[in-house]
Amino acid sequence: MPVHALPLSRRSFLTGTVAGTASLAMLQPTWAADSANNPNFLALLSDTHIPNTPDVTARDTNMTRNLKQVVRELVALKSKPAGVIINGDCAYLKGLAEDYANLANCVAPIVESGLPLHLTMGNHDDRSPLYAALAGQKPERPLVDSKHVSVLETPHANLFLLDTLTEVNVVTGKLGSAQRQWLAQALDAHADKPAIIVAHHNPQFAPPAEGARWTGMQDTAEFFDLITSRQQVKAYIFGHSHNWSVTKSGDLHLINLPPVAYVFGEGKPNGWVQAELHTDGVSLQLHTISAAHPQNGEQVHLAWR
Ligand SMILES: [Zn+2]
Repeated sequence: MPVHALPLSRRSFLTGTVAGTASLAMLQPTWAADSANNPNFLALLSDTHIPNTPDVTARDTNMTRNLKQVVRELVALKSKPAGVIINGDCAYLKGLAEDYANLANCVAPIVESGLPLHLTMGNHDDRSPLYAALAGQKPERPLVDSKHVSVLETPHANLFLLDTLTEVNVVTGKLGSAQRQWLAQALDAHADKPAIIVAHHNPQFAPPAEGARWTGMQDTAEFFDLITSRQQVKAYIFGHSHNWSVTKSGDLHLINLPPVAYVFGEGKPNGWVQAELHTDGVSLQLHTISAAHPQNGEQVHLAWR
């Protein structure tokens, strides 16, 4: 499971702390019981690349400043999200303890205001230093050994947060057979509600050129066989490529989140995405770091297959 920086009193709100498919089946939706948050609203962030000190910049971007801006925006919202997800590459490059100390400082207002925070692992993350910086968040019983995997239940969809980190600061991502096997079982056990898969790496169907590394998810073919054959899976949400886009693979929606940090191309947007889940789809709205960006406020409405 990813790190869940949420107060204990709200742990039951989004059911992230579960161990195994059997107990997952017993989860009770408790979102309406004890919270003023909008249970269908999720704040989606990715690629924050938080460095060891707040003054570090890259590609003319101060990553700490960008994340702090987004955090301010989130805690100021009138309608609060049921969860905030940072979809990998939370740390700058090597997942250093100091990176996560800075990250913990950046996200403190989220935690203090009671918004559940969920992190997934990117290729620039490292699990142990992350646990150390956000004490008490380590899962007692991981769903998949040595991986951060969790399921968030919301009224209209289950979100499966996966872990594609294979080696720190190596670009290639991979789910691996154990995680794919777990995912297949978990999806089959929860076929009654739309499923959305969330992981850091972009799909990469074609192998790299001779001698080159995979830059996306190495086991994309196996992963897509698994999810496209299960009709309840409606969308795959990823980051890594720092390239906001919403496309399709067949009738499966592909949502490529923008980075909170730096962009890889001039004029591309950075920021975060507001997701409002419905019974039959999701509405997305882009919030850019620069209020003047031409794509700020852009909305996309996706209908489920
Ligand atoms: Zn990445």
